[in-house]
Amino acid sequence: MNKEQAQKRMEELYAQIEEHNYQYYVLDRPIVTDQEYDHMMQDLIRLEAEHPDLKAPHSPTERVGAEPLPHFQKVTHDIPMLSLGNVFDESELRDFDRRVRQGIGQENIEYVAELKIDGLAVSLRYEDGQFVSGATRGDGTTGEDITQNLKTIRAIPLKLREPVTLEVRGEAYMPKHEFEKLNQRREEKGEELFANPRNSAAGSLRQLDPKIVAQRHLSIFLYGIAQVQGLDIHSHSEGLEALERIGLKTNPETKVCHSVDELLDYIQYWTDRRAELPYEIDGIVIKVNHIQYQEQLGFTAKSPRWATAYKFPAEESVTILKDIEVNVGRTGAVTPTALLEPVSLAGTTVKRASLHNEDLIREKDIRIGDHVVVKKAGDIIPEVVAVVEERRDGTEKEYHMPTHCPECHAELVRIEEEVALRCINPKCPAQIKEGMIHYVSRNAMNIDGLGERVIIQLYDQGLIREVADLYYLDRDELLQLERMGEKSVDNLLHAIEQSKENSLEKLIFGLGIRLVGAKAARLLAAQFETMDRLMDATEEELEAINEVGPKMAESIVTYFDNPEVCALVERLSVAGVNMAYKGPKLQEAEAVDSPFAGQTVVITGTLEHFKRNELKEQLQGLGAKVTGSVSKNTDMLIAGENAGSKLDKANDLNVRVIDENELINLLSPPE
Ligand code: NAD
Repeated sequence: MNKEQAQKRMEELYAQIEEHNYQYYVLDRPIVTDQEYDHMMQDLIRLEAEHPDLKAPHSPTERVGAEPLPHFQKVTHDIPMLSLGNVFDESELRDFDRRVRQGIGQENIEYVAELKIDGLAVSLRYEDGQFVSGATRGDGTTGEDITQNLKTIRAIPLKLREPVTLEVRGEAYMPKHEFEKLNQRREEKGEELFANPRNSAAGSLRQLDPKIVAQRHLSIFLYGIAQVQGLDIHSHSEGLEALERIGLKTNPETKVCHSVDELLDYIQYWTDRRAELPYEIDGIVIKVNHIQYQEQLGFTAKSPRWATAYKFPAEESVTILKDIEVNVGRTGAVTPTALLEPVSLAGTTVKRASLHNEDLIREKDIRIGDHVVVKKAGDIIPEVVAVVEERRDGTEKEYHMPTHCPECHAELVRIEEEVALRCINPKCPAQIKEGMIHYVSRNAMNIDGLGERVIIQLYDQGLIREVADLYYLDRDELLQLERMGEKSVDNLLHAIEQSKENSLEKLIFGLGIRLVGAKAARLLAAQFETMDRLMDATEEELEAINEVGPKMAESIVTYFDNPEVCALVERLSVAGVNMAYKGPKLQEAEAVDSPFAGQTVVITGTLEHFKRNELKEQLQGLGAKVTGSVSKNTDMLIAGENAGSKLDKANDLNVRVIDENELINLLSPPE
């Protein structure tokens, strides 16, 4: 890029970033994702570094936030409220550490790692222990006086436990469930939705009516002391402890780290678990712990040199929706899927995203050709969460769902009370294939080597029409199929043969009865013990089981009323498929003397004698609740070899930890 081009691009970026700052900080209504904004900012920083003479004096790279809104009193911050520098990966974090060590002239630095709460920065002033005022960050020098609004936050004490005078900084935020409730209420009233909890927290705190703010149930974590009298503090971690002691809420996940590797472990831990937190975080903040070193390092115009924010990879991005495709599932539900211009999201390239149903397409007014916001949270399939209307140019086309099944061409129906369109043709090949893919899946009959591709191949060759056909497959016929050698055919037949031994719950789940998930299948199998008894069960008998509601009971009875289903079960039985429950007896499962009854258990590390899934089922059978992460509600951690952060957390929280030998002892019946 030559100088002229660079200047043109920089001017473009100035204008765009200014506009986005206004939308985000003043209106609380961003029109690009944070990641897109961060990319623009990084581009600008790079261009300014390459062409320092072109840099404008009021460049957004030098400024924090935006000016306060005129309808609030302005507050001047004695100590400016700054932003934070960013790092986006390990090497940038190592660069930060190197700069810090060079700046201080020490080899080993103690850091504090904290969650970066995605809310709104505020400053609180206490005099002699009394809350006197609170303000937003504004442009860093001048903020808005939002004292009355802050008083509605229950986590902000009006009086401290000690009569100290201090100015403390923190992040006000809206818990995820409050955000969902709020948007639900707004949707019902036809009001505009907030894009995310951060914007709703900011929008709420800048409301003119404190009564409305009070209804929003905001909370706060305090993370730093700007000025203080009456407390003697030498490090950031001491400061946090002092805040907690005097009654201010600090974040419990904060950790002192002694190396970059320890910081990276903390980052990884929370990258994996951020979805489990009840509030949103968008990264990890890393701060030099000792105040003396902080002072030595000082500040740039915009941020401290002794701290930085590690930003998580994008979980949300904007891309173009190229087309919409419809798929028929095993229950006949026809679901639309968005085909996207490939976009990078949380480390993977995303080309498709779920649109759920037609109502959602209408509601969000999603059109083909639109720029859309795609989001990925945890392991969930990416979804289209919103349209960026500002980016429409008039060429976008409205979408209408097909009236006929794309697979079998039967007319689609909309069943009362349901949002999904359905193909109700029981012979629809798409449904049959999807049903069989479900039957062989891991949590159902778990037939190895029989994936989606082979099922479709067998179906298309006419070798299977229903799941019972799997047990009557002919070796020679299989050998005729493309990509099927002797070895794979033998393996496949062996896996099918083995599946005959499965306990009843796997078969019940595999049949794909509407509303019956893996958990319900286990309860049904444990209760009725044989397929015959389950088939004879009445709705009342079914409903007598905890967790089986009237809808599920009705669905089960209707399913087994169908003569075709009875014939199918008969063929499975004749083929030798086990029809009895092999798990622990219900009485045993509920036995009070089971050491696992009523216990919340977490499994971690590598176990020599157990498969994770099977152990989980066994423990559930003994009355345990098996969860994925350690919290203060956990009663027991089963730790195999190489147990990592879960073990640390369990030890921190004083959770009972048992190893594999103890587990075996506990599982074996008393002498
Ligand atoms: P920032 O969000 O990158 O980091 C600084 C802020 O982190 C602090 O002001 C504080 O509020 C917060 N924070 C949370 N937990 C903290 C902790 N434990 N310790 C210290 N601080 C903590 O910087 P910023 O200046 O507030 O905002 C810039 C960012 O905002 C951009 O990187 C972008 O992601 C987003 N933004 C988006 C748009 C948009 O249009 N989408 C526009 C402007 C800004």
